[in-house]
Amino acid sequence: MAENSKKGFYITTPIYYVNDVPHIGHAYTTIIADTISRFKKLLGEEVFFLTGTDEHGQKVEKAAAEKGLEPIELADQVVGRFKSLWQDLNIGYDFFIRTTQPLHEKGVQKIFQKLMDKGDIYKGIYKGWYCVSDENFLPEDVPLEEDGYKICPDCGKKAGVVSEECYFFKLSAYQSRLLRFYEENPDFVRPPSRMNEVVSFVRQGLKDLSITRTTVKWGIPVPDDSDHTIYVWFDALHNYLTGVGYDWNQARFQKFWPADIHLIGKDILRFHAIFWPVFLMAAEFPLPRTVFGHGWWLRDETKMSKSKGNVLDPYLILNTFGADPLRYFLLREIPIGLDGNFSHEGFIHRVNSDLANDLGNLIQRTLTMIQNYCKGKFEEIGEEEEEDENLRLEYEKLKKRIIDYYEEYSINRALEEIWIYINSINRYLAVNEPWKIAKDKTKRKRLTRILFQAASAIRVISYFLYPVMPESAQKAWNFLGEERPIQKQLYQELKFEGLRPGQKIKTPSPLFPRVSLKDFLKEETLQKASSQKEEKMEYVTFDEFKKMDLRVGEIVEAEKVEGTEKLIKLKVDIGTEKRTMVAGIGDVYSPQELMGKKLPVIANLKPAVIRGVESQGMILAAEVEGKATISFFDKDVPTGARVR
Ligand SMILES: [Zn+2]
Repeated sequence: MAENSKKGFYITTPIYYVNDVPHIGHAYTTIIADTISRFKKLLGEEVFFLTGTDEHGQKVEKAAAEKGLEPIELADQVVGRFKSLWQDLNIGYDFFIRTTQPLHEKGVQKIFQKLMDKGDIYKGIYKGWYCVSDENFLPEDVPLEEDGYKICPDCGKKAGVVSEECYFFKLSAYQSRLLRFYEENPDFVRPPSRMNEVVSFVRQGLKDLSITRTTVKWGIPVPDDSDHTIYVWFDALHNYLTGVGYDWNQARFQKFWPADIHLIGKDILRFHAIFWPVFLMAAEFPLPRTVFGHGWWLRDETKMSKSKGNVLDPYLILNTFGADPLRYFLLREIPIGLDGNFSHEGFIHRVNSDLANDLGNLIQRTLTMIQNYCKGKFEEIGEEEEEDENLRLEYEKLKKRIIDYYEEYSINRALEEIWIYINSINRYLAVNEPWKIAKDKTKRKRLTRILFQAASAIRVISYFLYPVMPESAQKAWNFLGEERPIQKQLYQELKFEGLRPGQKIKTPSPLFPRVSLKDFLKEETLQKASSQKEEKMEYVTFDEFKKMDLRVGEIVEAEKVEGTEKLIKLKVDIGTEKRTMVAGIGDVYSPQELMGKKLPVIANLKPAVIRGVESQGMILAAEVEGKATISFFDKDVPTGARVR
């Protein structure tokens, strides 16, 4: 490869396998990546953040067949779910790679061919114990059980013997080169404890790797030998090259490769820390800087898994709290290398204490005082006194520490530092008691200085919270009268006293509502029940269908439901009366464009209270990747007409 002209920062998540639905584990990895990506962008670095889906292999073939679908149809469905979860979690990836995309398939074939030509891939016969569930041959040193079978060490299921002609990759030839690489790059695997695991595994000796199958059809064919399909791991790992432009966007590829950090769950460490660098060495690509194996979120101290049925659905929390509290909790609770235990008690406690009390109250209280005492802006600011100076000086020292922690991916430590500072601001207000000073007209300048100081401090912490809680941080930033998006403010140009005198603040709305554990658990039970129902296809009889009162409704009023992004409150004329209905379409349609539209509605749906508004009926809309598209009539029809 030509001399490395890399300029940008490149971060990846694993590509997620589409035989599964997105759960909290996927969300965790992707939130970490999004946070690091946003942080790097604040420093003015050019960043490429890649995520995507792994769509080939036997498990997808099987799962699709069980549902009566083609593999690609199943993949399309699951991709839709991932994309809408990423949108709901505010994940700003730069590219979403699917291994079924031609740009990926061609790239993988090209590299396969290159390794064939070099002699690093050769044809042979493989006989070994194979785990269907993991699509992986078992390591040779797994012992035989008494019944003559081997048990997969990863999933505990029975393995079977598979013997077939296949292509091998000469992994064994790279053992000493790989060990030398680890020695020269001790940060290649993080945290360090995982590096030790990897090194001792490689020292035991590497055997050549079978990288094709003849029994699996759903995959990328071997060039010029289409009876063989490229093994799913070989296929998948190369997404990190094809996703950033290898063989189709050379300029981008040159700018970003090699990856700065591959974020992965620790369960797939061996593939990323051993096979991946060797594939790259063989194909003569520069090697990635770091493979970071993060821990798992446990539930009741055990790993979440589909088979145990204890997987946490991110929507249980998203629907009640939105993205930021979940992002905050996952990043604050544990360092990213360790395991954490997810409990609702722990989550609610964090939200109420850190977010609603410490941060939310501080912002609300400070801005309300500026509104009430200063007409919403600072005209005259008094001299800075010693205690004011402390707040500024503390910040000057703090910002370096926060940046360092973010740089070394210690996001929990960065957040701890931010919270120490939030407590200092709260203490500063408690000591200076602006609410008392406000009663004394001669102390106006002093009052303005105190509030200015607190507002300045809130402004800078909003900035540093942005990578973790982009939506709330942006709101707080805007409350202070800052017009532009936070990501346009470079760190290097961020000043403590960045508020301009005369800058008008906005009336704040609460950022983090308090929720009691009892209410949350009640909500969770309801949501679980309704999502279980969704899974099953149920038939209705014609008599049941006849009970539905479907009519042509005309939208006569439309407005956003306060404090939500998506909900619109509609007044719908159904011929006999006007009904209030709440619809989750505000991210696609503005209230204005809905006015006067006629569309099918269910008039006799049992009313439900949504965000404090009673919805008396429902409009019909298609849902694609979490976004609604309303069906309208193609001819004018009278309002109230029956729909059959
Ligand atoms: Zn297994």
